[in-house]
Amino acid sequence: MANQVTAPKGTKDIMPAEAGRWQHVEGIARELLRTYRYDEIRTPVFESTDLFQRGIGENTDIVGKEMYTFLGKGEDASSFTLRPENTAGVVRAYVQHKLYTLPAPQKLWYIGPMFRYEKPQAGRQRQFHQLGVEVMGSASPRWDAEVIVVATDFLARLGLPALEVQLNSVGDENCRPAYREHLQAYLRGHQDELCENCRTRTENNPLRVLDCKVPKCQPVIQAAPTITANLCEGCRDHQAEVEGYLAAVGVTFKRNDRLVRGLDYYTRTVFEIVSGDLGAQNTVCAGGRYNGLVEELGGPATPAVGWGLGLERLLMLLPADAVPAPGLIALIMGVGNAAERQAFQLAHELRRQGLAVDLSNGGKMDKQFKQAERLGARYAVILGEDELAKGVAQVKDLAARAQQTVPLSDVKDALMGAVAGGKQS
Ligand SMILES: [Zn+2]
Ligand SMILES: [Zn+2]
Repeated sequence: MANQVTAPKGTKDIMPAEAGRWQHVEGIARELLRTYRYDEIRTPVFESTDLFQRGIGENTDIVGKEMYTFLGKGEDASSFTLRPENTAGVVRAYVQHKLYTLPAPQKLWYIGPMFRYEKPQAGRQRQFHQLGVEVMGSASPRWDAEVIVVATDFLARLGLPALEVQLNSVGDENCRPAYREHLQAYLRGHQDELCENCRTRTENNPLRVLDCKVPKCQPVIQAAPTITANLCEGCRDHQAEVEGYLAAVGVTFKRNDRLVRGLDYYTRTVFEIVSGDLGAQNTVCAGGRYNGLVEELGGPATPAVGWGLGLERLLMLLPADAVPAPGLIALIMGVGNAAERQAFQLAHELRRQGLAVDLSNGGKMDKQFKQAERLGARYAVILGEDELAKGVAQVKDLAARAQQTVPLSDVKDALMGAVAGGKQS
């Protein structure tokens, strides 16, 4: 045999045995987002590299070292990048298609693969999947609260173990510049106690120091001045309103004044939903308000708020029994050539009527019954020479071990449990 080709490192096949879990999660998301009136948007998996440089920021790990970037071909030989996240792409589409001319807010959601060059580990891959929402065109705190509630409702509907909402405000253009200087001055006084990254961040992006996970940096971070203590009145009011909305629907949260986003376009609300079950990587969902991004990407000043959620991590938390087994109603068994053709026709007819059935793979009867059991079928429908001659089928309830003979035209009703009695044998 020739050498096998295997999937690239950091990617994963979602095999049939797991696909049901994905479909379950996606189905719940779609249904929930419909009730909240969010519309799906599908943007390309690759975009101009420039979009991410501007939309995520040059000094971030993502842009600095995690992007899959390549040159286009022929006339279009500029630089492209596989999307490492999707807010930038959604905002690009929002601006390009002038969605800001439509009534605000635009409430959008997306789902799909993202790509980052990272060291693969549990729950972290180079191709991974995110679900996200973006509410664009309103600065009202009710939308900050709504997107958080969408996320907590979603996680609750999936039956996930208790997760904690952590909430903070990162201020705005009024109060953050002064805080930034205040923080920078503090960090400059502690350079020896910081990791190399944080020494660089002190100069080009001091807020990001607060995100550092290196143990050495923690004492300095713990003692650093917080943005929360330096908010202007507008930001404090906004935060109080968000909290009031959350309390109104019983969503509990914890203030975490160490929670920040290092990018300038983030304003006011930031939040994470965290789990204690994933070790150090405990963030399931992360989001916030980004009033500056649309303008940064060439659109009119447009307030917006949203979140992204990693589906691989979510699936790790999903209880094994959370997903209903696929429902095969019946396995159709034809015994003999003519009966097999009749079985094929019957299966086709039942499927046209919306029933999930499959054809047996043939062989000895006990083998066929084993197949029915393995597929989780509720019934076996048996067609042999005798049945064929009489225009009937045997319908066997595999759990109750009861069998009845029904005319072919009544098989559907029998499978739906609508035919009571019948000839038991
Ligand atoms: Zn550090
Ligand atoms: Zn402020």
